[in-house]
Amino acid sequence: MNTPDKDSPLVFIVEDEPDIARLIATSLAEYGFRSETFGTGRALLARARKVQPELAILDLGLPDMDGLQVLRLLQEQHPCAALILTGRDGLTDRVLGLELGADDYLVKPFEPRELVARVRSILRRYQKAAASEPDAHGGARFAGWHFDIGRLTLTSDDGREVSLSAAEAALLQSLLKRPNKILTREQLIGERELDPFDRSIDVRISRLRRKLEDDPQDPKIIKTVYGAGYLLYGTVEWVTG
Ligand code: CA
Repeated sequence: MNTPDKDSPLVFIVEDEPDIARLIATSLAEYGFRSETFGTGRALLARARKVQPELAILDLGLPDMDGLQVLRLLQEQHPCAALILTGRDGLTDRVLGLELGADDYLVKPFEPRELVARVRSILRRYQKAAASEPDAHGGARFAGWHFDIGRLTLTSDDGREVSLSAAEAALLQSLLKRPNKILTREQLIGERELDPFDRSIDVRISRLRRKLEDDPQDPKIIKTVYGAGYLLYGTVEWVTG
């Protein structure tokens, strides 16, 4: 087994079944990820105040709180990538998880290699978004908003501040980099082929609209191009911090 070095990505796992927690940690370690496991949501959130993970793997059925609640609190505290791993195969949970900013959803029983592949693909997406950034401390001005990349916040010209999850920020960056161009779901998520039933992009787009648009039902900034994808309308000015 490879021993992960101290610079490798850190993954937090919240899972109340010790055997499953151990299986996840072992699989991640084999592929060079560091991880810390927690049996309760509270324990994970307390630790996340001191150490910040790159990604969190969240079980939904936890002894002290619902995994979706952990996800919501974690996103408020420290936006990071998140994967939901659960025995609950409900559509509501899936949509709700993505609404709350999860990047992916895997149902138990799972294949450890599949889990690691998902974790890698999520982290790759984030690294790509970060690496292609003109200046990680800067931001962009568009449509009456200033997007601060480092702080994952949007500030309106009248001073309103809105925070974004890491997943939303990555999506917004993709749109801002190519304004007034139609971008397919695949381009937006950075994958070659996407499950046509995967609505995660659409869910994130609607979250962004609720934060950005005056009327999310009649969007003027992020437009839907039916059968093709989405486009960000307007002028984008990149600024360095
Ligand atoms: Ca459980």
